[in-house]
Amino acid sequence: MKTLNKYLIYIFLFILIVIVFPAICTKRRNIKAEEHKDTLNQDSKNIVEGISYDYSKYGRVKLLHKKNGQIEEIAIDEYLYGVVSAEMPANYELEALKAQAVAARTYTVYQISNNKGKHDDADMCDDYTCCQAWISKDDRMKKWNENKRENNWNKIVKAVNSTAGKIITYKGEVINAFFHSNSGGKTEFASNVWSGGKDFPYLQSVETSGEDGYTQYNSEVIISKKDLLEKIRKEYKDIQINFNEKESIKILEYTESGRVKTVKIGNIEIAGTKVRSMLNLKSTNFSIKLEKDNIVFSVIGYGHGVGMSQTGADSMAKQGNNYEEILKHFYTGIEITTI
Ligand SMILES: [Zn+2]
Repeated sequence: MKTLNKYLIYIFLFILIVIVFPAICTKRRNIKAEEHKDTLNQDSKNIVEGISYDYSKYGRVKLLHKKNGQIEEIAIDEYLYGVVSAEMPANYELEALKAQAVAARTYTVYQISNNKGKHDDADMCDDYTCCQAWISKDDRMKKWNENKRENNWNKIVKAVNSTAGKIITYKGEVINAFFHSNSGGKTEFASNVWSGGKDFPYLQSVETSGEDGYTQYNSEVIISKKDLLEKIRKEYKDIQINFNEKESIKILEYTESGRVKTVKIGNIEIAGTKVRSMLNLKSTNFSIKLEKDNIVFSVIGYGHGVGMSQTGADSMAKQGNNYEEILKHFYTGIEITTI
């Protein structure tokens, strides 16, 4: 009998150790995992700051990190904290940051919906020359002064959260919300920058005041005649130029917004957009001056000039416009819609 009791105790202990304890632990782990999932679950139906919205149709952003080739999956608005803080200075007006958040969200949703395959398994990359700039919270915080970090980050989060679910649509369709740094006072028609640009009726040329007050407004590139010729010869082997001729370099044509459309350099004609990329000019709004040994390109504005100007958005916010007014100024005939 004593032996039987002993065996029963052993069996009881066995059940306790092998079955009951692991079951309890697993349950606790599952609860923890659920909690973790909830804090990150910005993908589906949500209510943030009183706005109800639903991201479930778009899922998470599959973000390609260009420097290591890794793909990270991030909830849309978490991804936008990294985009807004990389794309726009945190000391810009809150309404400008909100306009940036909505433009970036719109661009993101557009890419997820329309641009499958651009980056294989990813929706977007973190390179601003290709998709949108993005920076991790850690890297961002390190770049800000210690006494401003917390406030700056909270301001970015507020810009994204207070516009949660909001995107820009044109006739019910999500738009391709291009933006750039400084328009030089007047934005550009998309059709003058990209061959398919005429398909975007909401990307017209509009004027904005106050952009000349920003450092991005003026810039200059000085290049020697010899270096210029070398650079052009790499792509146009037949170029011939006599710099002693009065009109050896001449702007032939401007776009409707006043940017350079075509330049004659020696015996060839080159598009303004091509000159910009070859010489790393900040925009196609430039003038050319020939000096003794050098050519001086004086440039107005920064970026392709299409869609929302970021400095223009800040300037408009300073003049008392809210983010909806800013977006409706830069994107013609649009609506702000909640998804
Ligand atoms: Zn990209």
